[in-house]
Amino acid sequence: MPKGFFLVSYNTGLIEKETSGTPERFRRRTTTAKARRRISTGSAIITVYRRLFSCFGSQRWWPAKTRLEVAVGAVLTQNTSWRNVERAIANLRKAKALSFRALRGMPREKLSALIRPAGYYNIKAVRLACLMEFFDREFGGNLDRARSTETQDLRERLLAVKGIGQETADSILLYAFNRPVFVVDAYTRRFALRHGLLNGGEDYSAVQKLFMQNLKCDVKLFNEYHALIVRLNKDFCRKKDPLCGNCPLKGI
Ligand code: SF4
Repeated sequence: MPKGFFLVSYNTGLIEKETSGTPERFRRRTTTAKARRRISTGSAIITVYRRLFSCFGSQRWWPAKTRLEVAVGAVLTQNTSWRNVERAIANLRKAKALSFRALRGMPREKLSALIRPAGYYNIKAVRLACLMEFFDREFGGNLDRARSTETQDLRERLLAVKGIGQETADSILLYAFNRPVFVVDAYTRRFALRHGLLNGGEDYSAVQKLFMQNLKCDVKLFNEYHALIVRLNKDFCRKKDPLCGNCPLKGI
């Protein structure tokens, strides 16, 4: 994985969310079955992180050099593998098109041709153009100017951009803008479902809430956790024939 600008490392210490309230109130709450379930789910979420980090170490995500490159990658990775995204990004880099100015002024056909390896290239070219138009309108093309925009506000504005769904918006928020939001993807759902952390009917927000409620609100932690889940699914928790025998989550 190439070294990038947005590299972080986060060890396994201090990831639990701090509880509020007096010990007495806390004890009373834990007497209900619902609270017991919540606590066991919460401790499983923490154990998963510890096991994954100690098995794989820091994943040093997101593999990109600038905020803009993260945002472009977040759109390109929709419905395709990262390997294909890398090929599209390499084309853009070779064409010196990985800048706001280049992307904003690029004819749609040329952009489609450059990102062709990422699949759905005509649709993604439109989405990238809309995202660049958004960055232009909101921040004059300088993504550092997003610093003063509150996270929820920025999320809602991103979600209003054509083709930017919750997973893409949260990837941009977390990895480009360093905001503490947990990214939920198909990999998150797969392993969580297989380990009984989900029942399968939860929507995006419910899954996100489950993780965020049980973890310390921390950009580096959310960054590393999501990257580790991706690694888990690539190496062990495959869609077909998961390799449970040697998996670091075996027994959870
Ligand atoms: S491979 Fe098996 S043990 Fe590992 S996360 Fe997937 S279901 Fe769990």
